[in-house]
Amino acid sequence: MKVAIIGSGITGMSAGITLQKAGIDTVIFEKMSTPGGVISVYKKDILINNALEFVFGTAQNTFANDMWQSLGMFTETPENKKQFKTFWWKGHSVSIYKDFDKTVKELISLGQADEKHILRLGKAVKKFQKIELPLITKASSDTLRRLIKIFFNCFPVIPEVLYYGLLSCRKYSKKMKSPELREFFADVLTGSRSVLQYIVLWSFFSAGNFSAPDNNQKEMTETLYENYIRYGGKVIFNKELISVTVKDKRICTLNFQNDTVSDFDHVIFTNDIFAVNTVFNNSGKRLKTLENTIKNEHITSSVMLYFSIDKEKASKIIDNLLIPCAPIKVGSRLLNNFSVRIQEDTQTDKKALSVTLYQNEKDFAVWKELNDDSTKQYKDEKQRIARCITKTIEERYPELKGCLQFSDMTTPLTYFRYTGVNCGGWMPEGWNPLIYLRYARGKMPGIKNAQLAGQKVFPIGGTTLGAFSAVKASQRLIKLCNKTD
Ligand SMILES: Cc1cc2nc3c(=O)[nH]c(=O)nc-3n(C[C@H](O)[C@H](O)[C@H](O)COP(=O)(O)OP(=O)(O)OC[C@H]3O[C@@H](n4cnc5c(N)ncnc54)[C@H](O)[C@@H]3O)c2cc1C
Repeated sequence: MKVAIIGSGITGMSAGITLQKAGIDTVIFEKMSTPGGVISVYKKDILINNALEFVFGTAQNTFANDMWQSLGMFTETPENKKQFKTFWWKGHSVSIYKDFDKTVKELISLGQADEKHILRLGKAVKKFQKIELPLITKASSDTLRRLIKIFFNCFPVIPEVLYYGLLSCRKYSKKMKSPELREFFADVLTGSRSVLQYIVLWSFFSAGNFSAPDNNQKEMTETLYENYIRYGGKVIFNKELISVTVKDKRICTLNFQNDTVSDFDHVIFTNDIFAVNTVFNNSGKRLKTLENTIKNEHITSSVMLYFSIDKEKASKIIDNLLIPCAPIKVGSRLLNNFSVRIQEDTQTDKKALSVTLYQNEKDFAVWKELNDDSTKQYKDEKQRIARCITKTIEERYPELKGCLQFSDMTTPLTYFRYTGVNCGGWMPEGWNPLIYLRYARGKMPGIKNAQLAGQKVFPIGGTTLGAFSAVKASQRLIKLCNKTD
């Protein structure tokens, strides 16, 4: 059996390693000149280092970590951060700590009268700590032992799932008596998202299985690429798939710019669903549904601003900077909060403050239009956003006045220019379990020899689910290959 893989991002390389290890011949076709997909930005001569912040599945002896180890990643647990995120608004703040009891205390201090609700929320986070995301796929259990483990892990959370159900943060906020807590759930968190989504996210972090390893983009790209080559894989760069020819419900030819390839039995698509639909000439009805879901819900790239910081003057403040929250119009939406991170440039010993604002597919279109119409408009918009953010930070931290030097800003367009990709969902965002289950099997309707894997096909996105779906797609092919033998 020979398998053609489209795309050399995390997903494509994970599929390649799994198949090569099983003795199946593969070749990856990549439209860019380097591997890594959206996380390959670390290599470029610009300061973008954010397509991967937290990786799920880094703690040893967990389901997701076993998967990473089979690909040669995270054989040691990276150091865990003590604090995941801090929300700051109108003089209040709440941090999400690894020790979630501390978060519960902070929430209760905002509203003693709501103690009962917050304690329940804290308990739910603890219960979910044992659960790992891949468990929700139909085909995720490799052995009976795993099934039993899944059952016992999931059992305690059933009451929580029934209690919170699909309750949105905005609706949940109405249960609160304290105006601060009401504001926190309705406005500071994304009000339309479900409370369960946040519970799951915070449980991953507090369980220590959601880490932020240093240099993760570089390490992941290089390790996976080296492993793939070591197992005999081959990547052909600068090869963009334009269309496919289908005969008797099978893809018989992959059509590239200047040539065609037909010596393969199966194809694994890891490029995004919009591109997949394009090569199939928008024929897959069910994939259209997926496209629409993703358009509205899925987080794509970020707008990121970089400030260089006067280290002396900024002293300790920047190390403990909280996340300011202010309404700011970016792309097509009014965003309520942005996240701030300190980045250290080890070569120049400079510190930089990176500010991230999440964007979706619609925002990408807005930025594209701005740049198409006039570069000046595009640049002016960057300056406007930079001014808004500087003002918000300086209002919150008057001591930082004059310390922040706006250096540059990347937009979803920048990602696209440098990596050929502009999207990549940050794992638990936009989680829609129904859509997820529907596409978890990675089938292309009406096509027998295609497998879908990776971001967007798995609406939660993120590297772990990308790799996980790749391993699953590969295992299905390995099974098929063994049957044919
Ligand atoms: C701002 C941002 C923050 C993120 N934060 C996190 C995080 O904290 N944690 C986390 O786990 N994930 C995060 N992600 C998501 C994560 O980076 C992606 O989900 C993951 O890297 C996607 O890998 P992939 O291989 O599925 O897809 P991609 O990286 O998109 O790779 C697809 C590959 O296919 C190639 N390709 C596309 N079309 C064609 C074609 N027609 N022919 C040939 N090749 C083609 C592309 O060039 C690319 O190399 C973030 C993403 C962004 C953008």
